[in-house]
Amino acid sequence: MIYTDTRDKSVKTDLKTAVMSGMNEKTGGLYIPVEFPKLPSSFINKTPEPSFRDIAFEMAKPYVAGEIPDKDLQAIIQDAYPFTAPVVPVDKVSYVLELFHGPTCAFKDFGARFMARVMSYFNRNESTPLHILVATSGDTGSAVGSAFHNVPGLDVTILYPEGKISPLQEKQLSTFDGNVRALKVKGTFDDCQKLVKTAFTDNELRAKLRLSSANSINISRLLPQSFYYMYSSLAVRARSWGDNKIENPAIICVVPSGNFGNLTSGLIAREMGAPITGFVAATNSNRTIPDWIATGDYNARPSVETYANAMDVGAPSNYERIQAMYSLEQVRSLFASYWLDNDGIIDSIKNCYEKTGYTIDPHGAVGWKAWSDIRKGGMEALKNGTKNDFTKPGLTPNLPSWADKVINKEAVGIILETAHPAKFGATVQKATGSSPIIPDRLEKVMKLEDKAIPMENNYEQFKAWLLANL
Ligand SMILES: *Cc1c(COP(=O)(O)O)cnc(C)c1O
Repeated sequence: MIYTDTRDKSVKTDLKTAVMSGMNEKTGGLYIPVEFPKLPSSFINKTPEPSFRDIAFEMAKPYVAGEIPDKDLQAIIQDAYPFTAPVVPVDKVSYVLELFHGPTCAFKDFGARFMARVMSYFNRNESTPLHILVATSGDTGSAVGSAFHNVPGLDVTILYPEGKISPLQEKQLSTFDGNVRALKVKGTFDDCQKLVKTAFTDNELRAKLRLSSANSINISRLLPQSFYYMYSSLAVRARSWGDNKIENPAIICVVPSGNFGNLTSGLIAREMGAPITGFVAATNSNRTIPDWIATGDYNARPSVETYANAMDVGAPSNYERIQAMYSLEQVRSLFASYWLDNDGIIDSIKNCYEKTGYTIDPHGAVGWKAWSDIRKGGMEALKNGTKNDFTKPGLTPNLPSWADKVINKEAVGIILETAHPAKFGATVQKATGSSPIIPDRLEKVMKLEDKAIPMENNYEQFKAWLLANL
């Protein structure tokens, strides 16, 4: 596969370069494959449906062609995915896609685990380890630390702001041994990021250590997230008739979004032939994308804090990829877009629990409310010409091409549940009155010994530590 750049279509490179460099430093653009090949219909229409790993293998194959042989790709997928993504029906036309069955209980495990193994593969003939430096405000650090733990040839140093992340998040990233360690920096997240950025531009350090990053713009995190869109849309297509007697339903994926990596992966799956009719881009009060869809003007802005804090992003990085793939008119026809404030998030967790018995987390709750509003009159109102005020929580005014399917009750929704509710126990308790059951793997991590290493917010000390310890 050839990879190009969102800012310069004359760029042509391979997967290895795209993965190892993360972004194109010359243009500041993001790497993107030049095409998204359709899977054969014999594969997509197989009965019973292919397994998660079979889907992962078939979907990944074209993107690694010529660089990773089938046998090695099989091994990468087996090792990355000892878990899958269950589809849970919560009412006749609504399914929750549980993306929290990985080690850190959030969907980022799907991307980070694939990225780690692909990087390890590309590093296999090197005699020295590749040192990954990550600054985190909480969630990315744990997904990356866990995904890279014990992966050969890779070594990870996580920097986080001491006292500024939740106790659970801190345990999830500071209790590793072996090739992963955490530095608790006396400073803010921005200070952590600055230490990492300074290290990357320090030629003296780079002459001694091979450095790389593992951030969410890496294409090797996006491609694997497309696997569960294919998997869940095939599963829902197969079971829907038995659930609701709708013939050939339109499948709408509802995606709680921050940087819009997850949603971009859904677009890739659809291009590759997944039976998905449309998407709902669901956000919290950080409404940069809904505003863009409503007005046509893209204005990045500082983020605001919400209960769905993994989506607190004011300058979503994958906007650039979405824009490289589709025109604004295409986006308006493919997506409904929706945003919800904090009061709405609490109401939605409560409403989902009362209506269905399902305990949803604050991120999934944004999706639940969007889907509920859409099928309970939201699309009809748009069709009848209501001009929604996009500065208020709710749907933006664009009418997606699939609106009639919803109005005629010929659509089903897949709501992506991006984190386990126990990761946000206090918010869930506030909404439902009871706290979610904590999965074993979270409970265990709470009991591990905290091994974080104290670090001053001082580049020379940080550098000296790296040189002495890596
Ligand atoms: C990262 C994250 C999101 C947002 O995903 P994007 O790909 O950045 O849009 C949503 N929910 C949870 C729980 C997350 O960790």
